[in-house]
Amino acid sequence: MKIARFTVKDSNRPQWGILKEETLWVTPFMGGKEGTEHYPIEDVQLLAPGTPSKVVCVGRNYLEHIEELNNEIPKNLGLFLKTPNALANPGEEVPYPEYSQNFHYEGELALVMGKTASRISREEALDYVFGYTVGIDYTARDVQRQDLQWVRAKAADKFCPLGPWIETDLDPFDLRIITTVNGEVRQDGRTSLMMYPVDYIVSYISQFMTLLEGDVILTGTPKGVGSLERGDTIEAQVEGIGTLRSKVI
Ligand code: MG
Repeated sequence: MKIARFTVKDSNRPQWGILKEETLWVTPFMGGKEGTEHYPIEDVQLLAPGTPSKVVCVGRNYLEHIEELNNEIPKNLGLFLKTPNALANPGEEVPYPEYSQNFHYEGELALVMGKTASRISREEALDYVFGYTVGIDYTARDVQRQDLQWVRAKAADKFCPLGPWIETDLDPFDLRIITTVNGEVRQDGRTSLMMYPVDYIVSYISQFMTLLEGDVILTGTPKGVGSLERGDTIEAQVEGIGTLRSKVI
């Protein structure tokens, strides 16, 4: 099932809908039974599919990405946070931060939690995941190296486009991830190359931080990150989900 969050033209009220072919059927969050109200997808504005209390992000989860930035291999799963202000909608324009001269894209598989998870095992972890979507982890790379923590580098407004929708029926362990800039392929990896797989990530976080319904986890980026210019169009695509488009202005 594909489930999207959207607004209808001339309304600011976010709604959830199950996407069937080109039609969104209005439903409660998490896809209870859909009603009869429906909209053609071309008539709606898609929103970031989540209302998280936090976005938990994995850093340095793909070996070839660690090597391309000459970073050390982390001794534990490396985590950082993005805050809800960082979310951006599919297709939304993202301002190039004026305090950076090296603004990077990172295309990633994202998870949306379906229920409260605290101290859960690896074996039960995926039962707590509602579904999967695509995230872009925008990063001010120069500021990431200068600042004590990564708040300005990673959690500024609109630094986390998410979407275009959530796919609930998906095996996350070996999916192709492709990121293009202006149509040119820059990242082409597979989730099977993660050093810490999805079930491990969810269980690990839940040992010390309660994950709530709607919380989002970004699982790290494969190799091929790089600098952006104002005017660039970024498309991040995960097999079985769809393509998330973003434009830097
Ligand atoms: Mg990242």
